[in-house]
Amino acid sequence: MPSYLERRNILIAGKMNAGKSTLFNLLTQAENSIVDATPGTTADTKIAVMEIHGLGPVKLFDSAGIDETGELGEKKRAKVYANLKSADLLLLVIGSKGTVFTWEIELLEKAVLWGKKVAICLNCFNGAPGRLPVELNKWAAMPCLAIDATQSADRGKLLEFIKENCEREVESLPLLPFVTAGEHYILVIPMDDETPEGRLLRPQTLALEFITRRFAWPTCYRLDLKKARSADEKLKAAEKQRWLDFLASFTPKPAAIITDSQAIDVVDSWTPAEIELTTFSIMMIEQQSRGRLARFVAGQKQISALKAGDKVLIYEACNHSRIGEDIGTVQIPAILQKIAPGVVIDHAFGRALGEIENLKQYKVVIHCGGCMLSQQVLAARLKELDEKGVFYTNYGLFLAGRLGEAALKRVVRPFIGSLLFLFGF
Ligand code: SF4
Repeated sequence: MPSYLERRNILIAGKMNAGKSTLFNLLTQAENSIVDATPGTTADTKIAVMEIHGLGPVKLFDSAGIDETGELGEKKRAKVYANLKSADLLLLVIGSKGTVFTWEIELLEKAVLWGKKVAICLNCFNGAPGRLPVELNKWAAMPCLAIDATQSADRGKLLEFIKENCEREVESLPLLPFVTAGEHYILVIPMDDETPEGRLLRPQTLALEFITRRFAWPTCYRLDLKKARSADEKLKAAEKQRWLDFLASFTPKPAAIITDSQAIDVVDSWTPAEIELTTFSIMMIEQQSRGRLARFVAGQKQISALKAGDKVLIYEACNHSRIGEDIGTVQIPAILQKIAPGVVIDHAFGRALGEIENLKQYKVVIHCGGCMLSQQVLAARLKELDEKGVFYTNYGLFLAGRLGEAALKRVVRPFIGSLLFLFGF
């Protein structure tokens, strides 16, 4: 079971006046979108949430026409493509008019590139023929339905069509698949200058909820990283003893520790090998990518091959204020420069990565846990990187990997222990 309510996202897209809003209103059974013959009536994406029997909760996106010209048209198109990245299913609506389908073809190609399901709706109001235009013959194998969106009698077959074509290849994975009832789990949370007051970070909250729900026992531990890394040996030894005393206080012993990636060097070397260890960042990326952690490990293996002049993109999905020894802008770049002096580092922040020019220029992308992204957006991003042959790894893997193979193996073992042989471990 996923640890939060998962909806399938359905994007209704097509040219102006194809009947997208009529179809949206037919599905939602409400006048959510204004329907008018004036081209460009839908100025921005409209969203409605509904339940489809047999499929569950869905989010419907009614988007602006993809063929609008001018600067505003460009902006609307960019929004449609951003919506497409979030979608599970593209419902391409083709109206009764037109012989040029350049925009539809571009949309279909992007949908395939980003790994989206596609279904075509021939909206045959005004007596239009219910056939796929010959210009789209290449796409004839796609599921296709002819309906009249003005007819409420057609709603049932449209819902059935959506249901048949909206299944995901891989469903969401459990956040921490190794958690067992009656076991102790430690969450190491150092709390640095960037840690917000009054709340935990999302990956920490998700882990707490997940462990508690399964009748297991989570305990948070604040490690003092300044003391743990102090040049004053007495301070450091006292901090280590505090940690060891804490671990020794558990009966039975903790089954696993999930640590902030920044503390992996300390926690790995201070924790007995029989206790499983991973990081919040690795936990998140395995779930958010729906089980593609092994691909991230393969990307991590490329880090040691980096050389001067190679380009690396560090991508962080949230836009918090960056102060002090920020992981993405300070810590990882400093380590990269030690591994490969002269390596060129670019950054991208925020939920929407946008269209980064020439992704192929990067040897590796180092991605955060992506807890602020939807799984659909991350899937689209990874599919594109795969297509372009760009390797990717993750903050947690990177910070464990620089400690050596044993540490890397240790942090991924709780998730993909049976696949470790693939990496020569
Ligand atoms: S989006 Fe990334 S950087 Fe921000 S809290 Fe989530 S995992 Fe961490």
